[in-house]
Amino acid sequence: MSSEEFRQQEAELDELYRDIIIDHYRHPRHKGRLTAPSASHEGLNPLCGDEVTVEVVLDGTDLGEIGYTGSGCSISQSSASMMAEAVAGKSVAEAHRLIADFTAMMRGDEGIDPDALGDLEALSGVRKFPVRIKCATLAWHTLAQALKEASA
Ligand code: ZN
Repeated sequence: MSSEEFRQQEAELDELYRDIIIDHYRHPRHKGRLTAPSASHEGLNPLCGDEVTVEVVLDGTDLGEIGYTGSGCSISQSSASMMAEAVAGKSVAEAHRLIADFTAMMRGDEGIDPDALGDLEALSGVRKFPVRIKCATLAWHTLAQALKEASA
């Protein structure tokens, strides 16, 4: 798929959703490396050329710190920023629950409470473009792996 087609898909996202996604893309939250991560995991989405590395520090059963670095399309990078903001300060169990809810929403599963996801619901508009779902879920699968490695 050409980058022009990608831009066109992004332009077709609902306006409200697009504003939230663009805000996170331009002003990423928690972007950067941690000084002493408990675990660091790199995720790749070769379909689009997206890369996200997620670093975590565990504080007992809580996610003490989270940071990420990466490059790629606006959906992959804004999803990483939204994810980091959503899980920061949560327990590891809550983070896993959010990962499960978010990936279920992106699969189009019924019965997801939209209130539980807050701004993350903005990314549900990406479901219109099945090839981009992997862009939106990349950071989340990468976080799941980082948490697994940190807890090992
Ligand atoms: Zn992408």
